[in-house]
Amino acid sequence: MTSVRLESQVEYFARLQEIADFFKQNTLPVALASHIDPDGDAIGSCLGLQRALRKMGKTAQTYATVPQYLQFLTTEENDVLPPVEHLPEGSIVVVLDVDNNDQNRVEGIRLEHFSGFVVNIDHHGTNKRNSDINLVWPSHAATAQIITDLIELLGVEWDADLANPLLTGIITDTGSFKFSNTTPEVLMAASKLIAGGGNVSFVNESLAQHPKRYYQLLVLVLQSMRYELNDLCVTAHVSSSMLESVGASWEDVESYVGMIRSAQGTELAVMFKDYGTHIKISARSRGKASAQNIAVACGGGGHYAAAGATLHLPFEEAYDKVLEEARKELDRVGL
Ligand code: 5GP
Ligand code: MN
Repeated sequence: MTSVRLESQVEYFARLQEIADFFKQNTLPVALASHIDPDGDAIGSCLGLQRALRKMGKTAQTYATVPQYLQFLTTEENDVLPPVEHLPEGSIVVVLDVDNNDQNRVEGIRLEHFSGFVVNIDHHGTNKRNSDINLVWPSHAATAQIITDLIELLGVEWDADLANPLLTGIITDTGSFKFSNTTPEVLMAASKLIAGGGNVSFVNESLAQHPKRYYQLLVLVLQSMRYELNDLCVTAHVSSSMLESVGASWEDVESYVGMIRSAQGTELAVMFKDYGTHIKISARSRGKASAQNIAVACGGGGHYAAAGATLHLPFEEAYDKVLEEARKELDRVGL
């Protein structure tokens, strides 16, 4: 198909209908995958679409490593299989919530080993829109919101198994309906999911089960907090040795950036994750400055309010580089 941007709601729904028709007609096995460090939207979107396709009598299989905090979503043993190197001949690949061209970010299926048909559904504006079928719609808060629209067109009857993963994707990508991406359309999609058997309190309670090591690590992270750039930017960092000291893992770190983002008077929050070999950043903005611009300047991407990048630099150099880009972005918006 095309790499042309979808410009209007009409174009969005036309593309959605093409994809619905494609799935209705398709008889080949569908393999689903998403991004590294999969979040609620990644796993939720895969499980929602997989379950809808299976209800239609199709063969569909997600390949991913599900973090512990999302394992409440997997109820059947074959819901999610570990990442694969090679797929059976004639498979169709569906890549969700990440640009399929960004091979370092796709996880679950090795696309460099795959020459077949790829469908890419994503809500990141930075997506290059270069697969056999693309549906990239940055106006939607979550890929799960697009999948909700798609399942409506597929005509599959809603139930809790379909609705809860998608509700999880929407809840995690909107910060439980707190972020500026909580549009009327998001609430309408959530309403549809709840009416169809989704349960907001079940999802939120399941997401909010933190092990002891999470709090032990949080103490260390809060001790690392710094106020930078005239107190407009708050930072914190986590290193592999900090994780080791309390027996925590990287997935325990996921939500901390959302916590420091609440620092009064700041416009930007950046969490530095020091893996030893490279630094990953998670950047968040309160809406005035663009976290995406900072991440893109550091070789990454994401959304205006939430973005990330990987820097192959020692921690101090990565820290200085990110702060320099944050300074430029604050200057750009007159802060
Ligand atoms: P997080 O900070 O939660 O890892 O990611 C925030 C957002 O930025 C997500 O939408 C995620 O997909 C995107 N993101 C994070 N890291 C990268 C990266 O290295 N490259 C790109 N293109 N996007 C990223
Ligand atoms: Mn997402």
